Amino acid sequence: MFTLLNVAQPDTLEAAYNILKEKRSNAVLGGCAYLRMGSQTIHTGVDLSKLGLRYSKDYGSYIEIGAMTSLREVETDAALNNYADGLLPKAVANIIGVQFRNVVTVGASVFMRYGFSDFLTALLALDTEVELVKSGRMALAAFLDTPRSKDILTKIIIHKTKGHAAYQALRNSASDYPLLTVAASQLEGEWKIAVGARPTRARLAVQAAALLREADNVTAEVMEQAVQTAVGELSFGDNRRASAVYRQAVAKTLIKRAIAEVAACK
Ligand SMILES: Cc1cc2nc3c(=O)[nH]c(=O)nc-3n(C[C@H](O)[C@H](O)[C@H](O)COP(=O)(O)OP(=O)(O)OC[C@H]3O[C@@H](n4cnc5c(N)ncnc54)[C@H](O)[C@@H]3O)c2cc1C
Repeated sequence: MFTLLNVAQPDTLEAAYNILKEKRSNAVLGGCAYLRMGSQTIHTGVDLSKLGLRYSKDYGSYIEIGAMTSLREVETDAALNNYADGLLPKAVANIIGVQFRNVVTVGASVFMRYGFSDFLTALLALDTEVELVKSGRMALAAFLDTPRSKDILTKIIIHKTKGHAAYQALRNSASDYPLLTVAASQLEGEWKIAVGARPTRARLAVQAAALLREADNVTAEVMEQAVQTAVGELSFGDNRRASAVYRQAVAKTLIKRAIAEVAACK
């Protein structure tokens, strides 16, 4: 269990960021589910709950989700259920249980760039941007390549493009971390295939997506080529949940299922 010496509830994002950088051990508090698993001492925990960051809003051409929104709110949000075949709600629906998803936050889930993240894999298959206090706004894919630094993620922005999406994941047992996650989408003709929990963080299989985009028809042969290309361009590793060889074999099946599901949608 972590130790919290002080809690600050700033009224502005600027004040929150200033407190965060005052001391090395100061940290933002999300739902504290992950922090609870560690043993660090936090001098001042920065509670963002007075900043109005718990919301999800559909602006027509894009959906914005505030950092303090829970994953359960993502799961039950009407706009997110109606967009891209409910990809985001489907992706988070198997994370532990409802009580847990009521607590954990969007901001922490994205900012921490967890390798095992179901949510990040799905976001990567959509046209997603993130906004941070210090680093400003950037595409999620670019954010995933930046090293972690003292910053506060304030919201994510999902640009709505017409199309379909599918989510696949495999766990050794319900409520365990996934051993592989896959999200595929075809939005305005552009394919995206995101694969996470390899066990490193989610990446796009860019060459496989290009192959699908260039094909007139997603035949069984094209699908097989895309699967082989995807597993060839991504790396897979070992951890206690699965070996690299097993992950690669699972990836072939899950990627094929996700592509087939999207291709079947008209
Ligand atoms: C036991 C367990 C099992 C899990 N299983 C899964 C799973 O199967 N699939 C999955 O996708 N996820 C899983 N997760 C991750 C979970 O979904 C959350 O992503 C995670 O708990 C972090 O959310 P939190 O709100 O609890 O963050 P916290 O514990 O509050 O914070 C985690 C870290 O993020 C920082 N932080 C918090 N908010 C912000 C912000 N807005 N900006 C910058 N930094 C911030 C904190 O300072 C801290 O360092 C699991 C987590 C746990 C604890």
